[in-house]
Amino acid sequence: MSTPKYKRVILKLSGEALAGERGYGIDANVIQSLAKQIKEVVELGVEVAVVVGGGNIWRGIQGSSRGIDRATADYMGMLATVMNSLALQDALESIDVQTRVQTAIEMRQVAEPYIRRRAIRHLEKGRVVIFAGGNGNPFFSTDTTSALRAAEIEAEVILMAKNNVDGVYTADPKKEPTAKKYDTLTYLEILNKGLKVMDSTASSLCMDNDIPLIVFNISEEGNIRRVLLGEQIGTLVKGSV
Ligand code: UDP
Repeated sequence: MSTPKYKRVILKLSGEALAGERGYGIDANVIQSLAKQIKEVVELGVEVAVVVGGGNIWRGIQGSSRGIDRATADYMGMLATVMNSLALQDALESIDVQTRVQTAIEMRQVAEPYIRRRAIRHLEKGRVVIFAGGNGNPFFSTDTTSALRAAEIEAEVILMAKNNVDGVYTADPKKEPTAKKYDTLTYLEILNKGLKVMDSTASSLCMDNDIPLIVFNISEEGNIRRVLLGEQIGTLVKGSV
């Protein structure tokens, strides 16, 4: 009954998912609840790597609209993801989940550098690996990072956690009450319809590498577990048609 459908997954947590009601910064209760949900699935034997965003602290685009050079603003965004990653690491370790943070930009006093084979070894040992610093390059996002790392570590699926939205809709359900939810989609549809699921670079990378994505509501406790046990919640985006 509790056999997980997937063995190795990437969980994408946007910065917003850590911010709670305030919409910015890190909410300690929210991060504890996320840590508990992650622990539940680690206990099922699923290998979990987490890619953490930074939008709750800083987004490159916002900075560049205020006159900061875009590449510099993006590096600031990558640093924001490191802060979030350390907070998540702390929350997980406080409930006895073993973790390693790996950064795409070296900061040895703070975390390990990203080394693919080492990340895989940690996962095999049951540690949660948190990928911080995006992919280390400006003009990318943590969605792109999720696609890239999923391909690299051969994750079977990307779980994209959303706040208070239970999948992909034809339009923003908070603004358009008639918007309909998709149960399944393809990356091509996302690209053609301009659906705001992930950016186009990330969608293309997932499509080209045939990596499925499940968009689901993380605000409902226990949902990571439900998704991994194969319950049909959220929207499944298929790698190929
Ligand atoms: N970022 C980047 N390269 C990466 C990943 C992230 O430059 O590989 C920067 C970019 O400025 C981005 C910010 O980090 O706006 C925070 O990441 P993101 O917007 O993906 O976070 P989320 O929306 O998931 O909270």
